[in-house]
Amino acid sequence: MLIVLKSGTEQAGIDHVVDRLDQLGLKAHISQGQFRTIIGAMGEENETLPDLLTTIDCVERVVPVMKPYKMASRDLQKENSIIDVSGVKVGGGNYALIAGPCAIEIEEDCHATAKAVKAAGANMLRGGAFKPRTSPYSFQGMGEEGLKILRACGDENGLPIVTEVMDPRNVELVAKYADVVQVGARNMQNFVLLSEVGKIRKPVLLKRGSANTVKEWLMSAEYILSEGNHDVILCERGSTGFEPELRYNLDVGAIVAAKRNTHLPVIVDPSHAAGHRDFVIDLALAGLAAGADGFMVEVHNCPERAKCDGPQALTDVLFAQLMDMAKKIIAARQC
Ligand code: PEP
Ligand code: MN
Repeated sequence: MLIVLKSGTEQAGIDHVVDRLDQLGLKAHISQGQFRTIIGAMGEENETLPDLLTTIDCVERVVPVMKPYKMASRDLQKENSIIDVSGVKVGGGNYALIAGPCAIEIEEDCHATAKAVKAAGANMLRGGAFKPRTSPYSFQGMGEEGLKILRACGDENGLPIVTEVMDPRNVELVAKYADVVQVGARNMQNFVLLSEVGKIRKPVLLKRGSANTVKEWLMSAEYILSEGNHDVILCERGSTGFEPELRYNLDVGAIVAAKRNTHLPVIVDPSHAAGHRDFVIDLALAGLAAGADGFMVEVHNCPERAKCDGPQALTDVLFAQLMDMAKKIIAARQC
């Protein structure tokens, strides 16, 4: 059961609800967000509880939630959440059109790519400074120096920036520079990291693990929400499959299933699913057609120079083509 408090409820009100739950034999889990406080009540529920609790002055509503994920569930909120990313809205008919290099490497390339994606209509810039690499000998990212470059490229073009954090010890550092903090597929069930990004006040982009169910994905989102960060954007990036032409199988069904079960925005990453640029445009469009609230696509002004994921990077020209087609699908979805 979730108890949504009226906005502006002060600590005394929160304490009063927690005391009342204690008297009723229920344990409280407080999620104090920027705009509202939600209290999860754990324990044995009965039919009279919602009525009892709604009589408390600061309680807006009491929502019985049957799903294992509570705050992420559509049972809590029927309408789609709209997340504000430094002025760019995502969800509820607002699209995240995120593009940029896999990793920040050569400063000039990052500036050139940012300029190109902005010109084509992207509304956010991506780029990794901490890279999850299969081999310890591969390029691991530029760290803080990379974050500074990405920030400068974003500011120069009026684009909020999205970048990954892998280590709970770096959450504060990454959040200092980023507008959106990304949790990658490999860390979807790194529960320590999820709790840490739940404590910051920056939106989080949570990718689905390559072998995780929609339910597990939403449980991971719940870790972030339950810590008080209510701004979570989900990202489908493909599951492990057996087709060797593609790196992963983009799961458009998971987009549909997630959107049925959660009010959080869901976007699609066709680049990591595809593994090769030849597939990226069609998969991005398929994601939008399935109802995704946007995409995140890897673009590089000179893919040959990319130290990471060059084969799947769209060129500036291809990205502009994708944007033209995407606008048509978005218009069709909005009819
Ligand atoms: C990325 O977006 O840079 C990335 C590494 O993606 P994923 O976690 O989906 O593999
Ligand atoms: Mn990549």
